[in-house]
Amino acid sequence: MALDILTHERYPTYGECIYCGVSASKAKLDDEHVVPYALGGNIIITDASCKACAVETSRVERVLCKAVLGGLRDSVGEQTRRPKQRATNGSFVASINHGPRRTLTAPISDLPLLPQCRYGAGPA
Ligand SMILES: [Zn+2]
Repeated sequence: MALDILTHERYPTYGECIYCGVSASKAKLDDEHVVPYALGGNIIITDASCKACAVETSRVERVLCKAVLGGLRDSVGEQTRRPKQRATNGSFVASINHGPRRTLTAPISDLPLLPQCRYGAGPA
């Protein structure tokens, strides 16, 4: 079950970067998702972000969509541009009967939905 709750729509360009305002005549602009693609966003503003602003918004989206919501996205099978990189197993630390802490592995589908972190990995 993906989080695809939004319709697929495309809006025309504003003729400038929606973040910094640089004109389309002075910089190449790329399409911008209103909600990140990795979170089910399929509403696009055509030619809306300059390269410099895309670098900054991509950095924030990577942390949000991988480090913070990566485990949740894997669990629900959210759309991804890199399906081969989707995790199928996750790890967790457990102590059985007060024994030593051990790192165990289980299928993502058997792990609880914890949006705080990706299973077994820290921020990239
Ligand atoms: Zn910009």
